[in-house]
Amino acid sequence: MRIGFIGLGIMGLPMAKNLIKAGHSLAVYNRSRRPVDEMVALGAKGCSSSKEVASLSDFVITMLPDSPDVKDVVLGPSGVIEGLKPGTTLIDMSTISPKVSIAIALEIEKRSCEMLDAPVSGGQKGAVDGTLSIMVGGKKEVYERALPILKSLGRVIVHVGDHGAGETVKLCNQVICAINIVSMCEGMALCKKSGVDIEKMIQVVSGGLGASNIISSLAPKILQGDMEPGFKLKLQQKDLRLALELAESLKLPLVATGLAHQVFRIAESKDLGDKGTQALFKAYELMG
Ligand code: NAP
Repeated sequence: MRIGFIGLGIMGLPMAKNLIKAGHSLAVYNRSRRPVDEMVALGAKGCSSSKEVASLSDFVITMLPDSPDVKDVVLGPSGVIEGLKPGTTLIDMSTISPKVSIAIALEIEKRSCEMLDAPVSGGQKGAVDGTLSIMVGGKKEVYERALPILKSLGRVIVHVGDHGAGETVKLCNQVICAINIVSMCEGMALCKKSGVDIEKMIQVVSGGLGASNIISSLAPKILQGDMEPGFKLKLQQKDLRLALELAESLKLPLVATGLAHQVFRIAESKDLGDKGTQALFKAYELMG
């Protein structure tokens, strides 16, 4: 299939590589050139705009940071919408506002094209290994047409509802993950300050009810002092903001999510926004 890929960052680059490995023909674009050159060396066609990517593709995938980025890349000047041919499908795999996602889908449909929101969970490792969880919103028949592509990227792939439902489910996922990260960092900070071996604490907690994927993927990084981003703390903050905005529109109190958002703000104020979410532990160390 002729696939276009826009946004070759921590997640997008390994995802694009998996599409090439699966035998798809790929046209790519990214704001900075380096990852485009890396993909060209693997056989992708490097493009100089999102419009050019769309003009060469039957499916266009976007993997960008936030709602304004997706809006700009899809609807802005030299954007995807200018290159779309009728029948093309846009699959936005970024985590963005469900409301913005629905608005973009309506614009895309005016061009006789289709859109799916298909955000992912599983982190950088899931992107590299092709084992992401993918939550998909949009028309069922469009989802079924896109499924062979999504299967090159993920393992658990679920159609969760109409436009925006994928993004809504992703925000639920982020609420669960972020609060888990805060609880892990608080347990680790308490252990360290008490003078007890954190590594042994993690070992034994991981065999009990406190075990989690968050602990197994992030605690080893904290123990090694590795704060490099698999998932940037500032993007986690974007997701919590989006979850709180959604909850506000529903008049639903999300008390612990609000607290987690403020706790991560402390880490941002200590200049840790471009580090991985595990850098929250550093903020606790600086406070304690
Ligand atoms: P990232 O590393 O910051 O990558 C974003 C990429 O988008 C960068 O390569 C950036 O280019 C490119 N970009 C930004 N604006 C652009 C534009 N106007 N035109 C073309 N390219 C543009 O972020 P990421 O971690 O891959 O995350 C991407 C999305 O996936 C986010 O919505 C995030 O919340 C979500 N997500 C991330 C993870 C994770 O573990 N990292 C997991 C699940 C979901 P430059 O090279 O110029 O910066």
